[in-house]
Amino acid sequence: MPELPEVETVARMVRPGLLGRQITGAEVSWERSLGGLDAETFRDRVTGSSVSKVWRRAKWIVVDLKQGDTPKGHLLCHLRMSGRLHVEPREADMGSYERVRIDLDDGNSLFFLDVRKFGRMVYTDDADERFLGIGPEPLSEEFSSAWFRGALRSRKRQLKPLLLDQSFLAGIGNIYADEALHAAGLHPQRRSDRVPGPRADRLREELRSVLKEAIRREGSSFDTFYRTPEGQPGSYQDQFLVYGRDGRPCRACGRLVKKIVVAQRGTHLCTRCQPAPRG
Ligand SMILES: [Zn+2]
Repeated sequence: MPELPEVETVARMVRPGLLGRQITGAEVSWERSLGGLDAETFRDRVTGSSVSKVWRRAKWIVVDLKQGDTPKGHLLCHLRMSGRLHVEPREADMGSYERVRIDLDDGNSLFFLDVRKFGRMVYTDDADERFLGIGPEPLSEEFSSAWFRGALRSRKRQLKPLLLDQSFLAGIGNIYADEALHAAGLHPQRRSDRVPGPRADRLREELRSVLKEAIRREGSSFDTFYRTPEGQPGSYQDQFLVYGRDGRPCRACGRLVKKIVVAQRGTHLCTRCQPAPRG
């Protein structure tokens, strides 16, 4: 499932094709992608407005709309398992997985494709309300050392499920949690309130550097699903330290990487680099 780096990559790549464009119509082939709105209402809401900003919050791609100079709602896209966004000429044949097409005034369209149909392309008047209860962005200043130390102390939970909890921190999923915990030398089942301050700082730095490098490499593609809006795979999977590498030597120490289950999620670790918590 796409995580922060993949979603950020998609937002960055579709941005130039969308900014300033006016929406002239919308074609909906799979209404459930709209998350509750019917196709006609959706078309009414978005048609005639233009795109003022394209950004990301957690695992959502956000398209701010305006009518003239007045803000007029937002398009929110969640890729879930297999969603893809492309900006292409309207007449392009995007195959049978096209779920929503949003037409632009330059002859291009924003295509939302989704094999598995779990993804969403939602219109909302109030994005803030949608994002209530989502934790801070790991690449923002809000994710400070003081905040992280305090938040780990107060939660008293195992690190892996805590990092995956979107109400704690935004955008982290299975891949980047495993990678950052390994880089910081922390066992995924270590309790958050037992992580000393300096080690918490190291985890914070590793989370940020793993995410930044993954964005630089346009995310990770290890299955057929995630592709950038240019149709290319990301390349961060080439430098995974532990994720998906069970049974192969740890890149840091040579011991074989193990796969265990933590809070129902397959979790990759090196038991030498990431010693088990005592007790
Ligand atoms: Zn190791």
